[in-house]
Amino acid sequence: MSTDAPKVVVVGGGIIGVSCAYYLSCAGASVVLLERERIAAGASWGNAGTIAVGHPPLNRPGRIRQALGQMLDSTSPLYVPPRIDPGLWLWLGRFAKYCTDEHVEHAMSVMAPLGHLARETFDEILAEERIECDYRGDGYHEVCATESGMDTARHEAAIIEGHGYEPEVIDRDEVARREPALGPSAGAVFYPESASLNPGLFVPRLGEAASRRGAAIREGVTVEGIETTGGRVTGVRHRTAGTLATEGADHVVLATGAYGRGLMRGLGGPLPVQPGKGYHRDIDIGPNGAPRLRGSCVLAESSVFCTPMDTFVRFAGTMEFSGENDRMRPERLRQLTTAARERFPKMGTARPISEWCGLRPMSVDGLPIVGAVGAVSGLSVATGHGMLGITLGPATGRLIADEITGERAAPPELSPTRFD
Ligand SMILES: Cc1cc2nc3c(=O)[nH]c(=O)nc-3n(C[C@H](O)[C@H](O)[C@H](O)COP(=O)(O)OP(=O)(O)OC[C@H]3O[C@@H](n4cnc5c(N)ncnc54)[C@H](O)[C@@H]3O)c2cc1C
Repeated sequence: MSTDAPKVVVVGGGIIGVSCAYYLSCAGASVVLLERERIAAGASWGNAGTIAVGHPPLNRPGRIRQALGQMLDSTSPLYVPPRIDPGLWLWLGRFAKYCTDEHVEHAMSVMAPLGHLARETFDEILAEERIECDYRGDGYHEVCATESGMDTARHEAAIIEGHGYEPEVIDRDEVARREPALGPSAGAVFYPESASLNPGLFVPRLGEAASRRGAAIREGVTVEGIETTGGRVTGVRHRTAGTLATEGADHVVLATGAYGRGLMRGLGGPLPVQPGKGYHRDIDIGPNGAPRLRGSCVLAESSVFCTPMDTFVRFAGTMEFSGENDRMRPERLRQLTTAARERFPKMGTARPISEWCGLRPMSVDGLPIVGAVGAVSGLSVATGHGMLGITLGPATGRLIADEITGERAAPPELSPTRFD
C-alpha cells in the first residue's frame, strides 16, 4: 500500500459501512472499520433481503392520509405509539412536506440511476468474491389482494417504467400459474430487474472480503466522538479494551445507520433520520409451515415481504416509529404471519425458527444521505437508506470510495448539505 494512500476510519459494520470498507480497500485506501458489536448486528442482519432497484421513496402523495388512518393501531403496517418525542413529531411534519408528485419525480431521477449502479455493484461483488448467500437474480412479484391495491401498484409501475425499468403487470390467472401457493388475487406487478439474498450471510461475508482486500475490521469498539483540529477530522474517540490508534486519519465515514445520531452534533448535524422499526419471522418450509415459494413476493396491502431462503421463508416488514430501542411487540410479529396466512391458504401453524426486529435509518425526504459534510473537512456520512439499505449498500460503498479517492463527487442530490 502506498504511503500517500488515504487513511480512512469507517464507523459502523452494517451493509453500508462494510460496503464502504470494501470499495475503499479495493481503491487502495488504508481502512479501519470500527463496529460496536459485531458485523451486521443492526438492521443489516434480519431484513427481507430484497434488492429492489429503481423504486420511489416512502414519501408519496396519499401517504399521510393512509398513515393517519393506521398510525395508532398497533396491528397495522404503520404504527406510531403515542409518546412525547418532539424530535419525532418534527420529523413526521417535515416528512409530510415531501409527500408530493414533484418530490417523487425528483427522487426517481436520483433513484433510477442509483438502481442501475446497485445491480452493477452486486454483479461485480458476486462475480469477484463468489459470496454464497442464497442469491436469486430472478425478480419479485408485488401481489395485490384488492382492485384498489392493483390500481396503486399499476400507478407505481408506470412511474418506474418511465425511468428505464421494465415492470410487468400480470392478471390473476397468471399470478396463480406463476405462484400456485397463493390464494386468489387481483393481479400483480413483476419486477424482473430485482433480486434477493440472505443478508445475514451476505454482509459478514462481504466483511471478510473487505478484510482480504486489506481493511482492518475491529468488532466490539464503540465510537464516542469525532476528533477534529482546525476544522479537519483527525480520528475518533472510542471505547475499547485494547489499544487502537485512529489518530492521523484523513477521513472518517459515519455509517451507523439509525444509531449514533449524536455523533454529528456540532459537526453539521444531527441529520434528519429517525429509526423505523421492522420485524421478521422465519418459518421452515414444510407441510405444517411455510409454503415452498417459487420466488420472492411482497403482499401489497400489508407490505409483508416473503423471501425464500434455503430451508425457510422470511416474512418481514411493518414500520414502527417508537424510538431507538429493540423492544419487540408480539402483536407486530403476529401481523406478519396473519397477513401471510390470509394469502397462502395452505400455510401451517409451525412456530417461527427466528423472530427479530431492526431499525431502518429513515431519512426525512426518503433519499439516502451520502457524501462529505460541508462543515468539517474529511468527514463523510452514509446513512438514511430506509427500506433500501441492502439494495443500495454496495452502490453507496462505491460512491463513498470514489469521492474519498478523488475519482468523482457523490451526487449532490444525496449530499448531507441539502438539509443545511
Ligand atoms: C424488517 C426490515 C426489512 C427490510 N427489508 C429490506 C429489503 O428487503 N431490501 C433492502 O434493501 N433493505 C431492507 N431493509 C432496510 C435495510 O435493512 C437497512 O436500510 C440497512 O440494513 C441499513 O444499513 P446500515 O448499515 O445503514 O445500518 P445498520 O445495519 O443498522 O448498521 C449500523 C451499524 O453501526 C453500528 N454502530 C452504531 N453506533 C455505533 C458506534 N457509536 N460505534 C461503532 N458502531 C456503531 C451498529 O452496531 C450497527 O452494526 C429492511 C429493514 C428492516 C428492518
